[in-house]
Amino acid sequence: MARLITSQACFDPEDVEWLRCTIAADVYAKFLAASGEGVISTTGLEAYASRTLHEAKVMGLEARAHLASKRRALGVLMEQLHISPNILGDTSDPRHADTLRWVFTRLAESGVITKLEGEKAVCADDGELFDEVVGKCAACGSSVEGLGCCTSCGATLTASTLRDAKCGVCDAPISVNRVEEWGYVLKTQGEANTLNLPIVGELGWGVPVPSDGNKTFAAWFSALTATISFAVRGERAGGNVGDASVHFVTKRFGTHYRELLPKVYGALGTTGGDLRIVVAGCLRLSANGKPLRVSSSKLVAHLGSEFTRYALSRINPEADVEVDVYELQKSINQELVDSLGQFAQRVLQFAHSKYGRVPTPGELREEDREILGLIDTTSNRVISSIKALNNSEAYTILFEFAKKAAEYYTRQAPWSLLRVNPERAASVVYITLEALRALSILAQPLLPEFSSKTRSALSLPSEGTLSVEELRHPLTPGAQLLEPKPAYAKLTDKQVESLVAECVVEEKPEVDIAEFLRLDLRVASVVSAERVPNTKRLLRLRVRVGGKLRTIVSSIGEQYTPEELVGKKIVVLMNLKPSVFAGVTSRGMLLAAEGGGVISLLTPMREVEDGSWVH
Ligand SMILES: [Zn+2]
Ligand SMILES: [Zn+2]
Repeated sequence: MARLITSQACFDPEDVEWLRCTIAADVYAKFLAASGEGVISTTGLEAYASRTLHEAKVMGLEARAHLASKRRALGVLMEQLHISPNILGDTSDPRHADTLRWVFTRLAESGVITKLEGEKAVCADDGELFDEVVGKCAACGSSVEGLGCCTSCGATLTASTLRDAKCGVCDAPISVNRVEEWGYVLKTQGEANTLNLPIVGELGWGVPVPSDGNKTFAAWFSALTATISFAVRGERAGGNVGDASVHFVTKRFGTHYRELLPKVYGALGTTGGDLRIVVAGCLRLSANGKPLRVSSSKLVAHLGSEFTRYALSRINPEADVEVDVYELQKSINQELVDSLGQFAQRVLQFAHSKYGRVPTPGELREEDREILGLIDTTSNRVISSIKALNNSEAYTILFEFAKKAAEYYTRQAPWSLLRVNPERAASVVYITLEALRALSILAQPLLPEFSSKTRSALSLPSEGTLSVEELRHPLTPGAQLLEPKPAYAKLTDKQVESLVAECVVEEKPEVDIAEFLRLDLRVASVVSAERVPNTKRLLRLRVRVGGKLRTIVSSIGEQYTPEELVGKKIVVLMNLKPSVFAGVTSRGMLLAAEGGGVISLLTPMREVEDGSWVH
């Protein structure tokens, strides 16, 4: 029986919690494919979120054009992260509209959805919203984005009970309308509490509701049935979804999926096999206690794809994750870079330069057989961990094994055996290469880049999924070894700091105009600029402000040369308290914009005298 692995359709590819679900589904699907099981994996874009429509208006774009750019971004992200579902769907596909109407009709006939009284949020600036409402959970006080369930405490979130509720796209205040609408009664915290979830709206955006022409389906309902319409495409592509075992990974936000999805499958006359719904826990990233607002592309830009994959899959999908990025950096450097990457590089480099080919082992000793035995037990343990969606355990077992293999290699020290006992050196290298081969096969669903680079150095197929069956076929002595490329470079402080600088959430309080006017901001001309001796980043500037000269030290030496600054008009804060940098007293500060790794000094748009006020 085939398995259908599917993760929630995404409203926004930049949503890191969604990405966490998708990577979990991808690891599982890759593993099953490697195990030779029939797998169809799907995910895709929920095109008709009111967010897309609303964002397009804010950005002055046509909605379809904005949708197309989201779809491209999704494709790029999936490729960067080596996430390779069999079907990458899109709910603006006309085939999805058919499925959606079909599911709706069946559910309405069977009474699962009925007309009921519910509520709708309306943005003061731009009309109806489905669930793009942000605010604070009334139960636990944490910041929430979107309605449904609180990702921190699981409480039900409605627009009318959210504290400080506002539009999630444009920050405008919202109002709440009561409506009589097709909807679903969600039982929350037992039978006692219920929540009416409307499934249709009047956005003029989405799939029209049968027999109710002006209305369209809500994004959350469309996303739910998308798992089925994407799968139906899989069926057309040759899979057999009808009786497939369904595994579905969703954010906690989608807890109602757990209740509704079996009913949707039931209405379609299929059970979903041993339908398994995995609800991912909440994900919180911080830096020294400060919360970070990260996006998928920012994580990939600063950490690279493999470290991002690791960051989002090292802990099991169902667990809540609170990660300090500096702790994350430590574990990336210890577990991936040192234990795995450097070990592999050390062995592959030595084997390549001394032998060029897989050496022929001599008679094996007890300690060699111990490592071979460990390969077997490690393989079995990793396989059963991933089968149980326990990625966390799978990682731990892999790193423990890598550590033992590295200890064996260091203890046996083949480099010092080369002359005295070449046969023994060859055995040790052979056994260690075997350990690396097993690591490269077992790690492929979790760490595709490490796997592919290691396999390529061992002259094994490095593209696509290698079957776990391959674990049973040892390296052939005499097979060629290729020049290894290091799997990883250390994750530097600079990389982590730039991620933090871009993502730290500075909740600045409102100020009144009198507070702002306490800042003495002026236009200044740069008269001279030079590097502060023995520093990399510091420039000493002399600036003229009206009739006065000032010395300002600024740490823009990596972005600007002294020459390109002289003669420029810039903006400075005059009444900053003086401070001393590398022995030079600085009186004032330059104003610069920073984002996307770029630092840009502010200059006035029109010619204006130095000394002019900035306000
Ligand atoms: Zn809460
Ligand atoms: Zn709005």
